Amino acid sequence: MKPMGAIPPDFAGSAPLQIAGRAASAWIEQAGDTPLFVYDAGVVRRRIARFRQAVPEGVDLHYAVKANPFAPLVAAIAPWVDGLDIASKGELELVMAIAGKPASAISFAGPGKRDDELDLAIRAGVTVNLESEGEADRALAIGGRLGVTPRLAVRVNPDIELRGSGLRMGGRPSQFGVDAERAAALVTRLVVAGADWRGFHIFAGSQALDAQAIIETQAATLALAARLADEAGAAPPLVNLGGGFGIPYFPADAALDVEAIGAALAGALAERPAILGETRFAIELGRWLVGECGVYLTRVVDRKVSRGETFLVVDGGLHHQLAASGNFGTVVRRNYPVAVASAAPDVPTETVTVVGCLCTPLDLLADKVTLPVAHPGDVIAIFMAGAYAASASPSAFLGHSPARELLVGLDGQS
Ligand SMILES: *Cc1c(COP(=O)(O)O)cnc(C)c1O
Repeated sequence: MKPMGAIPPDFAGSAPLQIAGRAASAWIEQAGDTPLFVYDAGVVRRRIARFRQAVPEGVDLHYAVKANPFAPLVAAIAPWVDGLDIASKGELELVMAIAGKPASAISFAGPGKRDDELDLAIRAGVTVNLESEGEADRALAIGGRLGVTPRLAVRVNPDIELRGSGLRMGGRPSQFGVDAERAAALVTRLVVAGADWRGFHIFAGSQALDAQAIIETQAATLALAARLADEAGAAPPLVNLGGGFGIPYFPADAALDVEAIGAALAGALAERPAILGETRFAIELGRWLVGECGVYLTRVVDRKVSRGETFLVVDGGLHHQLAASGNFGTVVRRNYPVAVASAAPDVPTETVTVVGCLCTPLDLLADKVTLPVAHPGDVIAIFMAGAYAASASPSAFLGHSPARELLVGLDGQS
């Protein structure tokens, strides 16, 4: 038997599984079939309320659309946040089609922005977070050609790292951002060229569960922004402090202490250097906002015993939920939280391995976990499926149908 992560509190304790006040089976019936991602908007709304409560005035909340670009979910979140951060022309078109978010609330980060992407963003009045001097040259030229003053921020490749983070993006050579040593010179060039310089974007890492590490990173980020502003002799209208708030996927993980982060940030902002006196701040979050709202529901097709080990073979797999198979940026494979959604409370348990329907041994969804005894027709729930799941999985691999997706809980019943 191997351990698995804890079921998120929003879904723990119900048998059969309830999502947003209804049985998982009812959502499957509404959607038509499995495999199905169900996203509970109530979970996201409560997250955002908690963030607002914890984090001081003057700090905006942005949603990083790449975490989950399901259009109904993005449309639900848009009015609850101050900005949307996008990373491609496709995401730009998606958020521009959603009513209610002005272009000034949209920022576009990411390496390798093509001219047609810059053109569309600058035309629309979206803030472009510049990843290099070369991109700055192209953005200025496109603005000149269009006769539009481009809104440009400088993404900084910091000389700091987010300690305890799954993904490290600072303090080393990087395709992301302009090295801190050269950022002030680029700001000066943008201002001289007549661009609308929007400030700095400093993103130091992702999936951090250590509040102290985030507190230290935010303090260092503030200090870096002040130093660069002093060097450039210009006060930034906005400093995007990055994000990196993680969620507890695995057995040893504990939920992030967001209240401690908010309190420390309030203290740091109260004592910020004078050059940042009029600056607004933003925190951009993807995973922490939506990761726990999603449940992937997949039906047992076959139950087999092989050399003493029981396998449940389901109709979904890594082509929909790659991360649960351990093949999306993890070094050691560990079990996501999993349940038998269809099981009544009193069903005896057994040790089983849940595998997907792909012809590859990589398609392992839960390895030797303890679950209620399940048979073909039963439904397996894999939690923590709201971020980097459907859109971050190789859905064309092996030619199975894409998963269905359903947004629920918008009426506030959950
Ligand atoms: C992906 C990304 C995010 C979101 O990261 P999460 O870990 O999902 O919160 C935020 N900012 C930038 C620049 C990103 O590339």
